[in-house]
Amino acid sequence: MQEYKLFIDGEWTESSTEDSFDDINPATMEKIASLQIAAIDDVDKAVEAALRGFKIWSETPPPKRAEIIFKAAGILEERKEELARLMTEEMGKVLDETRGDVQEAIDIAVYTAGEGRRLFGETTTSELKDKFCMTVLRPIGVVGMITPWNFPIAIPAWKIMPALVAGNSIVMKPASDTPLLTIKLVEILMEAGLPPGVINLVFGPGQIVGKAIVHHPEIKAISFTGSLETGKWIMSECGKQMKRVSLELGGKNPLIIMDDADLDLALEGVLWSAFGTTGQRCTAASRIIVHEKIKDEFTQRLVEMTEKLKLGDGLMPDIDVGPVINKSQLNKIQKYVEIGKQEGARLLTGGNVVNPGLPGYFFEPTIFTDVDPDMTIAQEEIFGPVLCLITVSSLEEAIEVANNTRYGLSSSIYTKDITSAFKAIEKIDSGITYINAPTIGAEVHLPFGGVKGTGNGFREAGTDAVKEFSDIKAVYFDYSGKLQRAQIDQ
Ligand code: NAP
Repeated sequence: MQEYKLFIDGEWTESSTEDSFDDINPATMEKIASLQIAAIDDVDKAVEAALRGFKIWSETPPPKRAEIIFKAAGILEERKEELARLMTEEMGKVLDETRGDVQEAIDIAVYTAGEGRRLFGETTTSELKDKFCMTVLRPIGVVGMITPWNFPIAIPAWKIMPALVAGNSIVMKPASDTPLLTIKLVEILMEAGLPPGVINLVFGPGQIVGKAIVHHPEIKAISFTGSLETGKWIMSECGKQMKRVSLELGGKNPLIIMDDADLDLALEGVLWSAFGTTGQRCTAASRIIVHEKIKDEFTQRLVEMTEKLKLGDGLMPDIDVGPVINKSQLNKIQKYVEIGKQEGARLLTGGNVVNPGLPGYFFEPTIFTDVDPDMTIAQEEIFGPVLCLITVSSLEEAIEVANNTRYGLSSSIYTKDITSAFKAIEKIDSGITYINAPTIGAEVHLPFGGVKGTGNGFREAGTDAVKEFSDIKAVYFDYSGKLQRAQIDQ
């Protein structure tokens, strides 16, 4: 079992605390690593190293930065299987999904490497003679990154790669439940040639180490993915410091099934959206909004399919659903199931903590029907394998229900009718809408993010990713040799 110190200035560095925490396999409860907890002093040291790293890195030409990222993509590719297996051990999701998580990191690395030769500004005309106007992108400085546990390498990679290509340095705190894949990613970037100090890793509770990152005056921007509650707090603290903050938060994603839908396709999509990653995706479908005409057939078939899902250790080939991440998440799911019952929703299947021959944190895939759109289980993000079925009688009602949430990340509609599909695209308040596909499955060259309580307007991945980590400067180049006054001299 490996023990990790903090990664500061290119070296594994002893923390100034005596404290450490364990990294546990949530299926088997085996301890797989131990990590030192950083003190506030250590965060200071990481920032000092990042300031030195920034000097070197921001002066490195972007195509050279991109070469290192591209090389890292190659190493990730070579080590894909090993990393996926480690992720399943650490986080619990099944191997197919952890392979996908690593692939997403490879994809974003390859995509971002291309950006090294595409950090385009704009050129435009001036309202005055003999004057040239353009914009250039500049790095922000030291960026603080705080990430969740459900996509242990993809989310860190989504943040790290664009921040690096844009010339920033980084102080990062991965989720305490899944730090290992961030560590591996950073080791791979160092192997690919990243200079010391450009990325620094500190570990420990968000409440202490995350807070220290948010409050550090030399950290110029925070990129955070996690819960709405933590996101709100971070945003208000950054507001007080006039610090840039980009937030990717929760979801309560609706999936609409109209009466003309291809039911086989919709059922497959629902099963994958709701119970893939044990429902622990920000994009998981948690509200199925089903047309009354097909509700009975749909419900009966969905319950049959759900009851066939096999729970267990995600490393085993026949397993469909892995464990949930930790005890507090298990308790939270159980609590919501009880609330659902008390509020009058009807439990069709699941609802219990189970033991599939392993000591870990397993919860049965669970379906509630007769769910009122205002019930707690239809409003709050459960982040587990719990699905709410809500019946509607028209597209208008379906869209109204879909929008009846504080979140706005992903959404989906199954229909054969083009008009219904376009109405959904136009009217659903979300950052992503899928037609005849599940609510999960984002690709790295499209922007990712949401509206309302899901975020604050930034988008990760896609062409906007680099802008999250860049300042834009407008440049006016006057070659007239005289004073020319905009808006005054015509
Ligand atoms: P979380 O409790 O908000 O934690 C996220 C990260 O923030 C962790 O690294 C955590 O550290 C840290 N943290 C906690 N409190 C903090 C504080 N006061 N100051 C600074 N950092 C703090 O969320 P989670 O339970 O890990 O993740 C699940 C949530 O993430 C869900 O809501 C999900 O929808 C959302 N998510 C969103 C997206 C998206 O792109 N929109 C993607 C994935 C997940 P510790 O680990 O030490 O607690």
